[in-house]
Amino acid sequence: MTTSFGSAASHQVVQQLQSAGYEAVFVGGAVRDFALGKAPVDIDIATSATPEQVKSVFHHTVDIGIAHGTVLVLMQNEPIEVTTYRTESTYSDHRRPDQVYYVTSLKEDLQRRDFTINALAMTSEGEMIDLFGGLQDLENQLIRCVGCPAERFGEDALRIFRALRFSAVLNFRIEQETLQAMKGLSHELQHIAIERIKVEMDKLLQGKYPAVAFQYGREIGLPTLFPDLFSSFERLDVYAPFLHARHGWAALLLTSDATPAEIANNYKLSNEEKRFLKQCHEAACRRSHRKFNDLDLYHFSVDVLDIVERIHQVQHSNKEIVTREDLWERKNNLPIQHRSELSFTGNDLLKWSGRRGGKWTSEWISKIEEAVICRQVENDAKAIKEWFLYEISSEK
Ligand code: ATP
Ligand code: MG
Repeated sequence: MTTSFGSAASHQVVQQLQSAGYEAVFVGGAVRDFALGKAPVDIDIATSATPEQVKSVFHHTVDIGIAHGTVLVLMQNEPIEVTTYRTESTYSDHRRPDQVYYVTSLKEDLQRRDFTINALAMTSEGEMIDLFGGLQDLENQLIRCVGCPAERFGEDALRIFRALRFSAVLNFRIEQETLQAMKGLSHELQHIAIERIKVEMDKLLQGKYPAVAFQYGREIGLPTLFPDLFSSFERLDVYAPFLHARHGWAALLLTSDATPAEIANNYKLSNEEKRFLKQCHEAACRRSHRKFNDLDLYHFSVDVLDIVERIHQVQHSNKEIVTREDLWERKNNLPIQHRSELSFTGNDLLKWSGRRGGKWTSEWISKIEEAVICRQVENDAKAIKEWFLYEISSEK
């Protein structure tokens, strides 16, 4: 363990809870990541204090998830999540447990967690509490359920996607019994709210090894349930890692038969993600006929061009590698980046031509914009005037 764990504020929260007579430890992903030598994000604290007791220990708290035992403590302006030790009943709506029960033992709290590597706890002094062999599994790079896998996936099938997600992020193998239970219960995923699956998919796509997860996904029969996610995508490892989840979604789109609208609707993508997919689709159509030209560089973001280019290169075994840096350089060298930089206005066109305004004005603005981008005319009012008057006269 090389990095130091958590902020001073998070340690202070633990210590204040202890001073008030309660147990408090760090839990969840941050402890796992710390044990792996990675800088932990999202520090979670578990405590024997009830939410009301937590609120009485600290001056500044916010009830973010009080129904599930979580209180946000604001310590030195830093928000820290503190959750009361709890167990859960079943998830009959497949979103949230029907009922949470506060418990006083850490063991019971850790027992409800999905995988052994996520069921580690750590004291403020840095002592690991490992009741389910999580450290051994970290060492062996294994994803294994806490307790009986079939029961655990039966309680909440989302854990199947979570296992895939961790395999993509950590490049860990899934332990045999856990994998068999995933296979046996994968049909239960049809009841899981798509929003929950989307959260895990986003994390999966941002993992360094998404191909590992997709291989497991196919092994447990997910192509039947999620054909647009698992049917193609053979060479995902070549495209990954993705800078952002939306690049992963774009790779999915461009390597499947699905349309942008289908992917966006099936997985409830945000409007921004939907726009990104549409642009990737359009850019890919252009790239299938020819190389990107200056107009493409002007119209699309480097993010869009980059992912489309990478996929095209792999699918067509292109020898010529166009990097993200090449695209940036070409884009930065365009005569203009935006229409507002053009050195004329619609009024100039009216003045120069002596015509009255109409639909033609916007058409000609677009034509001149294209001519400037393609370097047929310089972005200079005098040059544009000459070019425009010549072109408009030869149009008649
Ligand atoms: P990340 O680093 O991506 O935040 P994480 O392990 O912290 O990963 P979270 O989704 O933030 O994942 O959940 C926090 C912890 O809560 C997990 O480590 C796990 O112990 C527990 N947990 C979360 N979701 C489930 C679930 N569906 N079933 C059982 N335990 C869960
Ligand atoms: Mg977390």
